[in-house]
Amino acid sequence: MDLYEYQARELLEEHGIPTPKAIFAQNSHEVDQAAEQLGFPCVLKAQVKIGHRGQAGGVKVVKDRDDAILTSEEIFPMTIHGHKVSGLLVAEAKNIIHEYYVSISVDRSSRDFDVLATANGGTEVEVIAKEHPESVKRLHIGALEDFDLEAATTMARNIGFYHADVDQAAQILLNMWQCFKDNDATLVEINPLAKIGDPDDESSKSLCALDAKISLDDNAAFRHDGWQRFADPVHSDPFEAQARQHGLHYVHLTGEVGVIGNGAGLVMSSLDAVSDAGKDQGNDIAPANFLDIGGGASVDVMRHSLSIVMSDPQVESVFVNVYGGITSCEQVANGILAALDELGESKPIIVRFDGNASQEGLRILNDSRRSSCMYATPWKKQHRKRYVSLQPRRRHVDDTVY
Ligand code: GDP
Ligand code: MN
Repeated sequence: MDLYEYQARELLEEHGIPTPKAIFAQNSHEVDQAAEQLGFPCVLKAQVKIGHRGQAGGVKVVKDRDDAILTSEEIFPMTIHGHKVSGLLVAEAKNIIHEYYVSISVDRSSRDFDVLATANGGTEVEVIAKEHPESVKRLHIGALEDFDLEAATTMARNIGFYHADVDQAAQILLNMWQCFKDNDATLVEINPLAKIGDPDDESSKSLCALDAKISLDDNAAFRHDGWQRFADPVHSDPFEAQARQHGLHYVHLTGEVGVIGNGAGLVMSSLDAVSDAGKDQGNDIAPANFLDIGGGASVDVMRHSLSIVMSDPQVESVFVNVYGGITSCEQVANGILAALDELGESKPIIVRFDGNASQEGLRILNDSRRSSCMYATPWKKQHRKRYVSLQPRRRHVDDTVY
């Protein structure tokens, strides 16, 4: 899960990393009040879960009350790189002397943690990294190792912080690492980590996080109260929210065929099979979702899964693909029927069962009074084409679908 800047800053503050005072606002009246409280000039920052807001006009320094209200009315309706603005952060404006970039992330290829930093931070950081790769320093923290002030100080020096900034930078790196670990993050990025203050007064200068990006590992949500504090009522998907309540691994996609299976690999292959069939037939039929019921799914798990998928108005038919290992196909079949009883009406379902209790499962489905909406049979290689190709055509078949 990605956090908004205002949420990411909260986590940084909790770990003692200095950030300018800021207030989250959801309309121009709130912007007005926040700006009044913080004083002018201040910065208005569009809250979207995507970078490069500055270049897209989503970050503006305002000088007085009228400027704040007018500018906020320009930013609120904006869509930045496809993301609708969900609020504005009103922040104290700081005088920037220099912009650094620092991040800590999970490095999947080396299976450890990656600290990236450059003394040339700011909005052009990607361009600079491309044209002057030598200016970006990279250090690793071993997966089983930790990080202390001594290591952080060496790192701050190697990374290219100016001498006067090394001690504070080391403390910030150490606090970022603590923040990264405590929150089960996959990314903690500060850009710019700015040197602020009066250029002529050395004692006024200090480092401060002006922007932050944090991604959290969804698999660790259970250790953090489900991250309810970061729930996004404006932009959350109701089907994903419902699935989460039932502990299901569900991702909403854009197509018409609901897909339910056990095991992420099998579900992914099922998604591919459905979209390949759509392409083959030239009608662009595509999967409506990813839903993995996991191993050993019970009647209830299947019932909730099918209910969520069927209640999606976008879904026109459902493909259930279960390979029974510890999961019993009999349980899955009973779950399907329980869901259909609950829902009343049904949409066409294609079921493929194999493995544990597949014959029993298929018999339950074929003997049920719901068999008219079902095409259930053991998986045979020669049938593969039929399974997937039947879905888009079902509209042309009479009452007994398929
Ligand atoms: P991003 O474009 O989404 O990364 O948004 P940022 O929050 O990083 O802001 C973009 C740029 O706006 C920064 O690199 C700064 O140069 C500038 N900026 C952000 N906050 C301030 C501030 O308090 N004062 C000044 N003068 N500039 C700021
Ligand atoms: Mn930034």
